[in-house]
Amino acid sequence: MRIYTLFLLSLLAFTRLAYGQTAEQGRGCSTDAYMEYLKRQDPSFEERSLKTQQAAQVAMRHRSLGQALQQATITIPVVFHVVYRAGAENISNAQVLSQLAVLNDDFRRLNADTVNTPEHFRPFAADTRIEFCLAIVDPNGEPTSGITRTQTSKESFSYFSDHIKSSANGGVDAWDPTQYLNIWIGNLGISSIGYASTPGVNPERDGVVLHFRTVGAAPFNNSLGDYNMGRTGTHEVGHWLGLKHIWGNGLTCNDSDGIDDTPNQQTQTQGCPSGIEISCDNGPYGNMWQNYMDYADDACMNLFTQGQASYMQGILLSARSYLYNSTGCTGELRSRFQVAQPQDTLLAPGDQVQFQGSFAGFKPTSWLWYFEGGIPATSTEQNPTVKYDRPGKYRVTLTTSNANSSHTLEKEKYIYVTSDNVRVYPNPASGFITIEQAAKQQVQHVELLNRYGQVVLSEQVQDRVVRLDVRGLPAGMYILRLASTNGTAVQKISIVK
Ligand SMILES: [Zn+2]
Repeated sequence: MRIYTLFLLSLLAFTRLAYGQTAEQGRGCSTDAYMEYLKRQDPSFEERSLKTQQAAQVAMRHRSLGQALQQATITIPVVFHVVYRAGAENISNAQVLSQLAVLNDDFRRLNADTVNTPEHFRPFAADTRIEFCLAIVDPNGEPTSGITRTQTSKESFSYFSDHIKSSANGGVDAWDPTQYLNIWIGNLGISSIGYASTPGVNPERDGVVLHFRTVGAAPFNNSLGDYNMGRTGTHEVGHWLGLKHIWGNGLTCNDSDGIDDTPNQQTQTQGCPSGIEISCDNGPYGNMWQNYMDYADDACMNLFTQGQASYMQGILLSARSYLYNSTGCTGELRSRFQVAQPQDTLLAPGDQVQFQGSFAGFKPTSWLWYFEGGIPATSTEQNPTVKYDRPGKYRVTLTTSNANSSHTLEKEKYIYVTSDNVRVYPNPASGFITIEQAAKQQVQHVELLNRYGQVVLSEQVQDRVVRLDVRGLPAGMYILRLASTNGTAVQKISIVK
């Protein structure tokens, strides 16, 4: 009896620590703090993040034009990484699958508690047309259950270290985030119940992290507390798809979540309100505390809005558009390749290139390459070496196959073998002068001088091919001055009318 009481007391103590402490901040979602931390670590992240937001807005506008896309459903392959030290943290497959079911219910508005959405908010409630499936193939092309299990010596993980995402630090490395949504499950201690990376983050940090006690719903989730119905997962995946907290992350009425159909709201909701709560003049219906992106208890959340759904679809059509091509849940082959050595596809005659073949889906059993203009012209190796002798632009084709599927990737004009020198043409010219770079020489700056030695055109060179517009120049003789890695060269150019 005494032992039982002690056990119960310590369990209550944990619950108070885990959820009690965070009650002051509400849910204890660490996404905002995590994002601030990443911005301090990597100054370029903020800019990337802003670009993804702009791209999502553009995609949303285009999307509203296309009815077909609006109706399309996307299914995102998911891998769950269970990282545990003690037995209770090694949660069952059934509990993980229950989290997947909660995500699918909530995002498709198939959740049983839609009846709790107040009448006045129902017109805004959305089926986001986003679904989730368990991965059946891993990044090495081997079969997987979609759940990895890793024992760790770490007592708990924090968003500061992000060690749960690192095999070298007692966690698990991310699977290719262009193919999978990574969801790590572990002990986040007492300060956090989950956090997510928003679009634009570095690939090795991309995904969602959940406290193991929040995963899935009854009867598989037996945790005490207010966050035991799998809605932490719904909330964090919302962040992963670019959504902000519904109150806009500040404590004033001047900030916003950037979504048109969520009411302006001052701050987060705690617990489970019993009726309408007004803030920021948002009467008569008040805060939308039933929204998954607020901080109310799991039992009191039940909707995403149409605006939030559009924004998430916008992210999926822009920053995360690669997920449309993922075969993580079908295992279908996708061929990929790049040039490994030299790290450029711009070559001089006689250069050798080492290609690097790769794939997504189940492992291929055969590789078949075609190299237009190359020696050899075909290969069955994964990483063949090929020589190119003659100037030209050449196609490369790779077909990978296994017992189940086959896929061909073709890249037109992928290899560009230049002549030995910079080419300038036509000469005489009347409209445009084209300057084509050679592989062994990088032109950095071009200038055109008239016969008085005055610079009439000047341009920094970034591309391999530069076009100078000389339509506005009078006919006559000019000097073209090219500053390159080989020094400065001059050439006479005649402009005719
Ligand atoms: Zn959050």
